Amino acid sequence: MTQTFSVKSSKQTELIDITRPVQEAVQKAGVKEGLCVIFTPHTTAAVTINENADPSVPRDILMELNKIVPFEDRYQHAEGNSSAHIKSSLIGCSLTLFIESGRLVLGTWQGIFFCEFDGPRDRQVYVKVVPDGR
Ligand code: ZN
Repeated sequence: MTQTFSVKSSKQTELIDITRPVQEAVQKAGVKEGLCVIFTPHTTAAVTINENADPSVPRDILMELNKIVPFEDRYQHAEGNSSAHIKSSLIGCSLTLFIESGRLVLGTWQGIFFCEFDGPRDRQVYVKVVPDGR
């Protein structure tokens, strides 16, 4: 079963904590033990796991990504958003997490982030919950 939820970004680049809607999808699936696959079907966005306790962490991640892959360069892609495409590939469009006792297994400081690299836009996140086969 695949569930979908929307993410609305409000900036050009932005990390948005999506831990809660993903956990809600796991609970809705009713799976106690298994895997949770998170996928975003966009070429200028990504998903990642990092610290969601201190908001300066996602800000620093974005600041450095925007330096590593500048918005303007001698890109050939005519749409003008090559920087976003490159960041999407660097970070990746899917994640796999464990589910134990009906909850996502995450470290104390870990959260799941949707990474917007070409916003603001309305985006989609797919969550597939796969029960343990035992
Ligand atoms: Zn493009």
